Amino acid sequence: MSDLHAWQRLYLGATSSPLQPLHHPLLRRHGIRLSIKRDDLLHPRLSGNKWRKLKYVLRQALTERATGLLSFGGAWSNHLHALAAAGRELGLPTVGIVRGEPASAANPTLSDAAAWGMALRFVSRQDYRRRQDPDWLATLAADYPGHYLIPEGGSTGLALPGVAELWRELPAADELILPVASGGTLAGLIEARPAGTRLTGYAVLKGAGWLAETIGDLCPAALADAGWRLRLEHHGGGYAKCPAEDRRRILELATALAVPLEPVYSGKAMLGLFRDIEAGCYPSGSSLIFLHTGGLQGARGGL
Ligand SMILES: *Cc1c(COP(=O)(O)O)cnc(C)c1O
Repeated sequence: MSDLHAWQRLYLGATSSPLQPLHHPLLRRHGIRLSIKRDDLLHPRLSGNKWRKLKYVLRQALTERATGLLSFGGAWSNHLHALAAAGRELGLPTVGIVRGEPASAANPTLSDAAAWGMALRFVSRQDYRRRQDPDWLATLAADYPGHYLIPEGGSTGLALPGVAELWRELPAADELILPVASGGTLAGLIEARPAGTRLTGYAVLKGAGWLAETIGDLCPAALADAGWRLRLEHHGGGYAKCPAEDRRRILELATALAVPLEPVYSGKAMLGLFRDIEAGCYPSGSSLIFLHTGGLQGARGGL
């Protein structure tokens, strides 16, 4: 039976992830001190920001005595991967509504999810686009009675407090840098931002002009807060796209910094940061922390 003890084991037993200084000639040249918060090392199966985002979502599902967890994602979704792992830890069945063809069930992400007991339901792109449509959600709720529905990426208001707790583990710094997709992680960080630390999010999706509004919806305080910004130009052509030259530079950075990076989130944001440092966007003398949000499981096909 699922219960809150399993949730406590999953969350209260964990220690915080390490913070490591990074060294690179470009950093020296521009007078930038950069460290990395290794949330990719937080948990062996629920890595990075998904562990944090799911924390209070899962507790709520258990409190409501949900009979299962249901959510949405693409075929390489870190969120579905983490949710499947969480379901197994908590003794709760999970359902993944996957955008794509059943053939993708053979990829490492979905193979893990299925092995951890997640039921996979593949839907067309058209159907997937209806993932916030109340009528479709009502149909799904009827198909999976008692299941707790979690939006794509886990970005609900309940994701914010789990992310906000990250600040307790960080030393003072001028700026925290992170990759951004749906905006839930950034919203949680804005909500509890210490006055002295600015936030810069590197959007990994193309044309993410809508992000600021979404972040404002999740965290109304963000609207009046001038201490965060989005960089929208470093998407590399779109979500999960990465030109060969960028891929090469990400590999080069991963080697030079001695940190594992993947091309969808951490690598794209790190490359964006280095380009911005080179362009003089960060003042000399700045101390920066880069948040490694995890997601290395998705790179098992190779960088
Ligand atoms: C999901 C994910 C993100 C994006 O987080 P959002 O809260 O959707 O902005 C960033 N990095 C990794 C590795 C992720 O899996």
